[in-house]
Amino acid sequence: MPSSLYYNAKLILPDRVMVGGRIGVAAGRFVEPSTLSQPHMIDLNGHILAPGYIDLHVHGGDGSDFMDLTPEAFLQVCRCHVRHGTVALTPTSTVARYDQYIRFLELCQQLSGTETGGAQILGGHLYGPYFAPEAKGCHPAKDFLTPRPDRDAQLLSYAGSGLVTLTTAPEFAGADALVRAARERGVLCTVGHSYATLSQMETAIKWGVRHVDHLFCAMSDRARLRQKQAYPMRGGVLEATLLFDDLTTEVIADGKHLSADLLRLAYKLKGPDRLALVTDAMRAVDMPDGEYWFGCVGDGERVLRSDHVGLMLDGQSLASGVMGMDHCVRTFRQLTGASIPDVIRMASLTPARILGIDREYGSLEVGKRADFLVLDEELQIQQVYIAGHRVV
Ligand SMILES: [Zn+2]
Repeated sequence: MPSSLYYNAKLILPDRVMVGGRIGVAAGRFVEPSTLSQPHMIDLNGHILAPGYIDLHVHGGDGSDFMDLTPEAFLQVCRCHVRHGTVALTPTSTVARYDQYIRFLELCQQLSGTETGGAQILGGHLYGPYFAPEAKGCHPAKDFLTPRPDRDAQLLSYAGSGLVTLTTAPEFAGADALVRAARERGVLCTVGHSYATLSQMETAIKWGVRHVDHLFCAMSDRARLRQKQAYPMRGGVLEATLLFDDLTTEVIADGKHLSADLLRLAYKLKGPDRLALVTDAMRAVDMPDGEYWFGCVGDGERVLRSDHVGLMLDGQSLASGVMGMDHCVRTFRQLTGASIPDVIRMASLTPARILGIDREYGSLEVGKRADFLVLDEELQIQQVYIAGHRVV
C-alpha cells in the first residue's frame, strides 16, 4: 500500500510545537513512521505541519450559499473553504421556509462524507428556525418557527449525517422537549440568536444544551435585558456562556465582528479547549466587494461585502463573515497573542471535540484521519491534504 513519510517538519501538537518532527501517512490515516516500509519520503524543509481546520459555522463561499439548495452549490462552498485550510465543516442553514430546511437536511445527508473535491461535509447545522425575534441579527424575522412536535420530529428524523447540530433560543415554550429529543438522537444542541436570561440558560444546560453560537453576537446580556427588567440586574446568554464550564462557544475571529479586547476576554475566560474559531462566512468569500444574497437567492437578505466583512445595506450592522479560517487563525493570534498550538487547536481539535468527533479528527495523532496543512511561518496555507491526498 503506498505510504508517505513527512520529515523535517514543525509539527503543531495540541500542547506544543515539535521541531524536526516526522509523521507517517498510510491508507488516509496518520501512522507511526517506524511501521512504514519504503515510504515516499517528503522533506518539509522546516515548514509547519498542522491539523486541518474544522468550521462549525459556515454558510457559503465562492458565490454560493448552502441555502442555494443544490449539490453544486454545496461542492462550490466546500472547494472554496479548503483553499483556506478548512478540511471539514458543518453546512449551516439560514432562516428559510420549512420546505427549504427539509431540502437542506436532505442534501446534508446525501453529501455527508462524500468526495467533494474540497472540505468534507460532516452533517448539517440547522440554524434559523428557532430564533428569538429580538435577536434576529441579519436574518429575516418573518420565517422564525417555534418548537412544534410534528415539525420538530420531521426535522430530527435527519439526525446523524443529515443533522449534527441544532441551534435554538431556549426561552421558547417547547424548547425543553426539542432539546431533549435532539440529544437522544445524538445531535449537538446550541443556543444562538436568543434573549434568554442566565437562569433560563442554566435550565437549558440541564436539558442538554452544550454550546453557544458566535459569542457576543445576537444574544442577550445584562445591558440589553436591563431595558425590560427592573433591579437587580441580571445576566443573559453572554454572561451564562462565560460563567458555565458546561458550555463551549465560538468566536467569529475575522477581526471585524469583535475587537481584540473581546477576543482576549473570550480566550481568557473560556480557554482554548472551550473556545472554537468560526468563519460564519457567507457567499462573498473570495469574491469582489458588492451586494450579495445572504441565504437563498431571491428570498434571503441583501447584504454587502465591504471592508473584509459582511454588512447590512446600511453599511453599519454586521451580516456574517467573508473571510476564510486561515485568516481567522492569523487574526486571532495577532490580536490576542495566543500561542500557535492554542490558536490552531481552537480551529481543529476543539471544534472536533465540540462535535464529538475527536477520535477521528482534529490533531496529528496516530490512527486519526490524515487531514493536514502545510503552513509557512506567517500561517499562510501552502498545501492542504484530506485523508492523505493533496487537495491544494
Ligand atoms: Zn451565521
